[in-house]
Amino acid sequence: MSISVVQNGFYGEFGGSYIPENLQEVMNNLTKQFNYYKDDTEFNEELHFYLKEYIGRENPLTLAKNLTAKIGGAKIYLKREDLNHTGSHKINNAIGQILLAKRMGAKRIIAETGAGQHGVATATACAIFGMDCVIYMGKVDMERQALNVFRMELLGAKVVPVEKGQGRLKDAVDEALNDLAANYEHTFYLLGSAVGPHPYPTIVKHFQSIISEESKKQILYKEGKLPTAIVACAGGGSNAIGAFAHYLDEPSVRLVGVEPSEAPSLTEGVPAVIHGFKCLTLLDEQKNPKPTYSIAAGLDYPGVGPEHSHLKTSGRAEYVTVSGEEALEAFQTLSKLEGIIPALESSHAVAHAVKLAADLTADDLIIVNLSGRGDKDVEQVFNMLTN
Ligand SMILES: *Cc1c(COP(=O)(O)O)cnc(C)c1O
Repeated sequence: MSISVVQNGFYGEFGGSYIPENLQEVMNNLTKQFNYYKDDTEFNEELHFYLKEYIGRENPLTLAKNLTAKIGGAKIYLKREDLNHTGSHKINNAIGQILLAKRMGAKRIIAETGAGQHGVATATACAIFGMDCVIYMGKVDMERQALNVFRMELLGAKVVPVEKGQGRLKDAVDEALNDLAANYEHTFYLLGSAVGPHPYPTIVKHFQSIISEESKKQILYKEGKLPTAIVACAGGGSNAIGAFAHYLDEPSVRLVGVEPSEAPSLTEGVPAVIHGFKCLTLLDEQKNPKPTYSIAAGLDYPGVGPEHSHLKTSGRAEYVTVSGEEALEAFQTLSKLEGIIPALESSHAVAHAVKLAADLTADDLIIVNLSGRGDKDVEQVFNMLTN
């Protein structure tokens, strides 16, 4: 199946790898190993074992009956990534990459995290595979996400505070890359979204494509036809590219990515290089990546994956924005009507799906990728609603 269009790490003009030479060698080796193992039978058997027995796949494609009835337009289905172990799609990628790391002989896993969600997924994967785990996290982020720091520590990870720069995600990325350059022989850098230098966007898409592999089979079984549209939120873009992958070659299926209006990389960004790859990026007047603020920590990133940048400029996918306020309303609507508390990130996708469904007919089907559960956000929402 030709779901991968990547050539030398480029999706159109986007992607590539803009990194120092010593790191380029590490990336070349990673590309070679990934290309080998992704088609290796034993590797795939082990991956499927963990997808089923540890993550709990396949997860359901649930008809949102009450929401559909209330809107009176298209039928809305939810792809339930929120039901995965640890509560989001991030674990699909963490398990996939750690199996690759194990094959490559790594003993030590490093990662960076902003809000802590990718750090928790990585620490979880390291716990089950008995790997040493070092998570770089900006000092400012650590103070704001103290509970996630504790979660990672419970899982056996060492969380290293990064004080350099502004003590935020970007500084943590720099530290992780320095560590990798110094220790690449036994260290594997586990990257959390469909971003970064080649081959990471391709690797992350590969492991997240299980989402659309399942949803396509499920919708054909339940409805006997393909959906009208797939709707997914996009921060770095990993859940969205996983939700789109198996529909890229189905031109009748609309692919809709939803960004926060507070961090609209795809809608308002310009081509630029950040974190070692080229993508649509929000820049400030000095042409530096612009600080963003979304209520959904996982969507708070001034860039976005290279394949989304290409899908946007080529017109294959559509990208829209939803405000924090609209997402907050969708968070409450889905909770009340369906008994499902969605992550604030996923609430952005739900908010747009509601608008889209109203414009379509009862013959249309929408699949919303419910990237995660909202338990992590309940305290934040409580504070927003009571202040
Ligand atoms: C991290 C996260 C996201 C954003 O990451 P992508 O790479 O854009 O998918 C979305 N939803 C949830 C629940 C997350 O934890």
